[in-house]
Amino acid sequence: MLRIGCHLPSSKGYLAMGKHAVKLGANTFAFFTRNPRGGAAKPIDEMDVKAFLDYAKAHDIDRLVAHAPYTMNLCSAKPEIRQFGKEMLQDDLRRMEYTPNQYYNFHPGSHTGQGVETGIRQIIDALNESLFPEQSTTVLLETMAGKGSEIGRSFEELHEILDSITLSEKIGVCLDTCHIWEGGYDIIHNLDDVLNEFDHIIGLSRLYAVHLNDSMNPLSAHKDRHQKIGQGQIGAEALRHVVTHPVLRDLPFILETPNDDEGYAAEIALLRKA
Ligand code: FE
Ligand code: FE
Ligand code: ZN
Repeated sequence: MLRIGCHLPSSKGYLAMGKHAVKLGANTFAFFTRNPRGGAAKPIDEMDVKAFLDYAKAHDIDRLVAHAPYTMNLCSAKPEIRQFGKEMLQDDLRRMEYTPNQYYNFHPGSHTGQGVETGIRQIIDALNESLFPEQSTTVLLETMAGKGSEIGRSFEELHEILDSITLSEKIGVCLDTCHIWEGGYDIIHNLDDVLNEFDHIIGLSRLYAVHLNDSMNPLSAHKDRHQKIGQGQIGAEALRHVVTHPVLRDLPFILETPNDDEGYAAEIALLRKA
């Protein structure tokens, strides 16, 4: 059975997210670990987590893809922003252990003028200072559209980071269809080639999750504007091929499309029929 869900609001806690997911026909979901614009995280309510874990088991909800706040930039030119990002990362990784064996996805970062190589080095250093041997969470680098000075537009950049992480079994990649399309990978006409390229450069064994989004923009636009499934420039047919592709179909798919509950439930139902 397809493992699919969408991004859910986290303000009412874990159990509420589990119930929300089931209501939408989802068996996984994504959520922000804290306010996406940054700041302090709510303390973990252990009773709520315990209730959620029981509920998730009973309803086969698994492979959550938590999302780091957008303000987390491990390669900003400003040292205080890098430090703030690293503290959020470390705090989030501790909190993720309340829900063991799930995924934590983050945007590698924007180098803000320092250059790609410096940025990559800073991301590597922050990760090596933050991942810990006992963690059960797999941290995922998200493929990016290449907006501004974003790192992670190319598979080569992601490989360079992955290749230098000491605890290499704790890290992988989350593929965002809108981002790679806008990043220049033509998943409409060359999905097999794109996945082969991913395999040669990064290795498909490092791919743990997919953000399933249509895009408002054409190939290589580097803008990062998500669209509802079938209403953007990638289109429903190509996205159907993504969810049914033999090397992808067993991964968790997360919708980050501009939708309300009704829209998400409809997209989930549509893709389950793919
Ligand atoms: Fe993201
Ligand atoms: Fe995404
Ligand atoms: Zn995006």
